Order: sequence, then structure tokens, then C-alpha cells
Amino acid sequence: MSTEEKPIGVAVLGFGNVGSQVVRIIEESAQDLAARIGAPLVLRGIGVRRVADDRGVPVEMLTDDIDELVGRDDVDIVVELMGPVEPARKAILTALEQGKSVVTANKALMAVSTGELAQAAEHAHVDLYFEAAVAGAIPVIRPLTQSLAGDTVIRVAGIVNGTTNYILSEMDSTGADYTAALADASALGYAEADPTADVEGYDAAAKAAILASIAFHTRVTADDVYREGITKVTPADFVSARALGCTIKLLAICERLTTDEGQQRVSARVYPALVPLTHPLASVNGAFNAVVVEAEAAGRLMFYGQGAGGAPTASAVMGDLVMAARNRVQGGRGPRESKYAKLPISPIGFIPTRYYVSMNVADRPGVLSAVAAEFGKREVSIAEVRQEGMVDPEGQRCGARIVVVTHQATDAALSETVEALADLDVVEGINSVLRLEGTSE
Ligand code: NAP
Repeated sequence: MSTEEKPIGVAVLGFGNVGSQVVRIIEESAQDLAARIGAPLVLRGIGVRRVADDRGVPVEMLTDDIDELVGRDDVDIVVELMGPVEPARKAILTALEQGKSVVTANKALMAVSTGELAQAAEHAHVDLYFEAAVAGAIPVIRPLTQSLAGDTVIRVAGIVNGTTNYILSEMDSTGADYTAALADASALGYAEADPTADVEGYDAAAKAAILASIAFHTRVTADDVYREGITKVTPADFVSARALGCTIKLLAICERLTTDEGQQRVSARVYPALVPLTHPLASVNGAFNAVVVEAEAAGRLMFYGQGAGGAPTASAVMGDLVMAARNRVQGGRGPRESKYAKLPISPIGFIPTRYYVSMNVADRPGVLSAVAAEFGKREVSIAEVRQEGMVDPEGQRCGARIVVVTHQATDAALSETVEALADLDVVEGINSVLRLEGTSE
């Protein structure tokens, strides 16, 4: 390392799960980092809410004046690890406008404000990196923006939320219901006190927006992503899924579609889906994440690892920090936002997928044909039907459950079919409607 190189000054905003690990690595690996960057990385300060001398770093390093820290002349790179959209957005914009490169792990912000922030970075000719915003430690942003820059990405599908994957894995392996599995996830620290962002799919939708934007060179925001959470998935769905050779996963799917008229479109969606046990995503269990990328020339690539946690997320942040610092030393910058394709976003109603529909029906002759007729009327082709008798706690027969698996149909046709089924006298209730992914029939 040349110690004569001008140091690169870093401000870390946030000293929580991720920020504290980033600070630790900057300090413990100072020599190696300097050798890789070509200049020493020097921590100028840490932005927090609570400045105190019991936080494991010299109190002089801490400040609650984020503006002052970001604006310091000796800060070249700002690492934002505070969380919510504000005050992170304001701090990042200020840093970019002052010509400082920014690294962030803030998916909520990147899913709504990428345009504004990318423009500010562009204007100031500085870097804006956010590898840690999607799937924690797993490198997926850089492979999409750099390794696959010469290929055409067709599909990105993944398990990008560890909390929901833990809950669904528990339900699958123990037979627990959603509430019990959520309580278990909370006790182990996998679910936050308010789990809404995870279990309702908002977190996964933010990540899907980021992935779709990068993969398809089109600006996609969280509002463009169709979203369903996992709160309605039942133990009975897992029993049916097993019988069909599947499990259930919350998937984030980003796809390039071509309409019958030859127009290219983008679909980004998040929902719980049946996945065949033979599919690579089916064996991703617990709090792990995985992303499968399909590109025209590369074919299928899979990225797997820890999608959250202080140290794993800090690893991704550090990768970005080293890149941004190297660019500073060498006087260049990394790839900028690419949104040239500007593809329209396809509404969910046009997306063809396979479906699993579970309903309770009267236990009498003719029910199956009445149910099948409703699918037929809307040209939703049935691939498989299972009928199970149900018994009450006394062991008496009390109706039947029919599970239908369809071939590919549009969301619009399926929704109409389900509405019509619900109106049939012989159908006592629709239990679940889930999609089946990972097959092409
Ligand atoms: P965290 O543990 O809650 O820490 C947040 C830190 O930011 C705290 O040190 C807090 O200060 C500081 N902070 C919050 N608001 C502030 C404000 N208004 N002014 C100054 N400081 C403020 O959060 P985290 O888990 O490290 O997550 C940080 C970011 O990484 C988030 O955007 C998150 O989405 C993202 N991320 C996290 C993970 C993960 O596994 N944790 C994974 C991927 C991405 P005090 O300490 O004084 O309260």
C-alpha cells in the first residue's frame, strides 16, 4: 500500500445491526482495504440518534448532526445505513449534490426514489451503489449491472425475504399454522415487532422493483409491483402442495414478456406460490435467500446465501464501499443507471401462470362436473384435480375438498372463474387460490 495516497474519508450514517459491522470491518481490515483500494480508508464519523459513551466506539466519532457530518470537507463517501426513507433520502441527496459517492442498503428508499437519486449521482458524476438493498450478502445487483451487461435478462425470480421464508419453511416442516410459525420467527429474532412489511410482501416488492429496474433497463417502482403476502397460507395448502410434489414459497418474480403483438413488457410481482420440489428454489429453507436469473446467452444462474443480518449485509456494503473508493482513487466511476428500454409495466391481469385452487364443496354426485364447467367456460384448462373427503372431530364425513391445478391461464380469467365458483350452490367456500411457478405447462 502506498501510504502517501490521499486518504478516502468515509461517513457511516447508522450504527445499528449493519452500521456497527461496517465500522468494525473498516477498522479491523484497514490495511487490507487500503491495499485493495490504493489509498487508506479513514472513518470520519458515525451518524446516530443517540450519542453516548457506552456504544463501543469513541464518543467523539458519534454525532446526531447528520447534515454536518455529510457536509464535512474530508468526507468523500457516505455510507447510509439508517433505514426509513427519511431522513436517509435527504442525507443521500445532500451527499450526492456535494459530489460525494454514496453506498446504501436502504431498499425501501431505493424502491421509490431511484430515479431522483440516480439523477443526482449522474449530475455530480459520482457513484451510487446499493448491492446490500437486495438479498443481503448475495451479490445480485453487480452481476446484473456488470457481469450480464452484454446479455439479455429474461427473468429474475427469487426468495428475497428471509422472515417469510423462515415462516413458510416452518409451516412446511412442522405443520404449524401461520400464527404459530410467525410467533416462532419473532422469538428467534427473524421477525420484527411489526412484521407487516415482511409478511404482506412489501419488503419483497421493494426488492422486486430494484431487480426489475436493473434487469430490464426500465424504471420500476414498488407501486408497479403486484403484491400478495403470506398471511392466508394454511397448513392444508402445504398438505395439498406436498401431494402435488410441491412446497410453498413467497416469490419475487421479474419477467420480460412479449405480447401477441410483439411488444415487450415488464412484469414484477410478489406472491406465495407452489414450487415443485425439484425446482432449485424449493430447497432454499429457513432465513436464506436465493435468486435465479435467466438470461438469453448465459442460461440459468443461481445466487444463494444469507439475505439479511448485520455481518452478511455489511459484506455487501463493504464491496460497494471498496468499489466507490477505488473509483475515487482512479478518478473514474462505476456503471450508471440504465433505463433506456423504458418498457411498459404489464398489469397482473395479463400475466399467464398456472393456478392451484382449493375449495370446500358439498359431498354429493355432480359436484366435480359443476366445478369443472366453470373452468371450461372461461377456457381455463385443468391439469389435475384431487378430491378429498373431510371428517369432523367425531370422525363423521362432513363434505369434501376439491383441489384443482390449472394449465397456464391469465389472472383475469382465473379471477372470473373463482368468482363464479364462489357463487355455485355446491361450493361451500374457496379456501385458497395460489399460483404454481417453476413449471411451464
Ligand atoms: P438498525 O439496527 O435499526 O440501525 C439503524 C441505525 O440508524 C441506528 O444506529 C440509529 O441510531 C440510526 N438512525 C436511525 N434514524 C436516524 C436518524 N434520524 N438520525 C440519525 N441516526 C439515525 O437498522 P439496520 O438493521 O442496521 O438496517 C440499516 C439499513 O440497512 C436499513 O435501510 C435496512 O433496510 C438495511 N438492511 C438491513 C438488513 C439487516 O439484516 N438488518 C439487511 C439488508 C438491508 P441509534 O443507534 O442512535 O438509534
